[in-house]
Amino acid sequence: MTAMSKVLVVEDDAAIRRLLRAALQRGGHQVAEAATAREGLSLLDIEKPDVVLLDLGLPDRDGLELIQPIRARSQATLLVVSARESTEEKVTALDLGADDYVTKPFDTDELLARIRTALRHRLAGRVEAGRVEIGDVAIDLEHRRVMRGTEEIHLSPKEYGVLAELAARPDRVISHGQLLKAVWGPAQADRVDYLRIVVRNIRQKLEADPARPRLIINEPGVGYRLGRG
Ligand code: CA
Repeated sequence: MTAMSKVLVVEDDAAIRRLLRAALQRGGHQVAEAATAREGLSLLDIEKPDVVLLDLGLPDRDGLELIQPIRARSQATLLVVSARESTEEKVTALDLGADDYVTKPFDTDELLARIRTALRHRLAGRVEAGRVEIGDVAIDLEHRRVMRGTEEIHLSPKEYGVLAELAARPDRVISHGQLLKAVWGPAQADRVDYLRIVVRNIRQKLEADPARPRLIINEPGVGYRLGRG
């Protein structure tokens, strides 16, 4: 089902485009390529990609400025692929609406795995909206219930809030600030300490081994993502 998904690569470096094209085709994807921001936006409308790989250092515009226009015009999964390593840049990209952030130089197998995961979540999200399963944990967003195996797990409102935010967008890294704003409110947006405590509690209740979490994964300095189980 995901075999012929289309990936739009927006990248000005021809050598990296070639590398990405080869890897993506090997992974069974169709590929469209743009070398500038302007070309990227026009191909977005023409090609209707399932996934966009977006470089930030583009000749005509900063890639960060493209995230919101892409989000506004397309349902595509948006992965930033950039040499910029600052966590601030990652947080900005995620807060603007990117789904994930991959740092150059990247491992092509890891990149393909992230694309597969994102597409699978997108597909699963369409098939069964409101229910997310990771390993033996099932999150029912409609009825606000969390099951581990056959046992219902009772979470505090904050614990449930954080888990639900992550589960609502299972293919994304959600920044600390986004989670805090959504669950605690804008005034507490920098209380990462509150968030850490709540995540630790969720792990105690839901992870088989809380010291090696598979359900809620850290993106150090950036935020959290839902694991693959
Ligand atoms: Ca570049």
